Amino acid sequence: MTDHKGRISDNKCWTADHKSQISDHKSRIFREIKYRELRRQIRECRACEELFGYEPRPILFGNADARIMQISQAPSRRVHETGKPFNDASGQKLRHDWYGITDEEFYNPDFFYIVSVAHCFPGKASGGGDRKPPKVCAGKWLLQEMELVNNEIYILVGKYAADFFFPKSNFTDLIFEDQRLNGKPAYVLPHPSPLNVKWFLDHPAFEEKRIKEIRYEIHRILNK
Ligand code: SF4
Repeated sequence: MTDHKGRISDNKCWTADHKSQISDHKSRIFREIKYRELRRQIRECRACEELFGYEPRPILFGNADARIMQISQAPSRRVHETGKPFNDASGQKLRHDWYGITDEEFYNPDFFYIVSVAHCFPGKASGGGDRKPPKVCAGKWLLQEMELVNNEIYILVGKYAADFFFPKSNFTDLIFEDQRLNGKPAYVLPHPSPLNVKWFLDHPAFEEKRIKEIRYEIHRILNK
């Protein structure tokens, strides 16, 4: 509907746009409030204290509007001690060699939301290596985070995280094909641990080709 100069229509459009912006703004604030409460609850969680035999230290990093949500298996002992995720040789390889970004970019909370299927270091197994992460954690916390964090893409690091979301799929197939998770694009990576030598020898196409495609997408999302 317009008058002879088109003013009524313009006003209606403007009003509709304005209402929509206010509604978006309100839902963003509501989501942010819910997310902050969730983050507080996660940081205070001690549910696995008896299982671990020490006080758990839940690790999560990033803001509710971070562009990329990276999900791995569980924090290492070093991360447990420092409170800083991927603060080790695996993290160096991940952000420098694979993502091609600086430490400042990786630890920018508006860029990356860094979390794990289990939020705490699960302790050392008697036979060596870390214990399996407690299964309860993802259902208790991670799935809620995935609903509240407004990321654009997911990156799953390692077989444990890949199996959690895609239990019927072959791990290597998941790595070499684009995936979707929670309605968003998702990329699966092998674990960047320096001990993970054989997989890379068996799959040279990962470093020759596949990681370049994923890196391109990360840089596009970060507007590099
Ligand atoms: S692993 Fe998860 S459920 Fe267990 S104490 Fe840590 S945050 Fe809580």
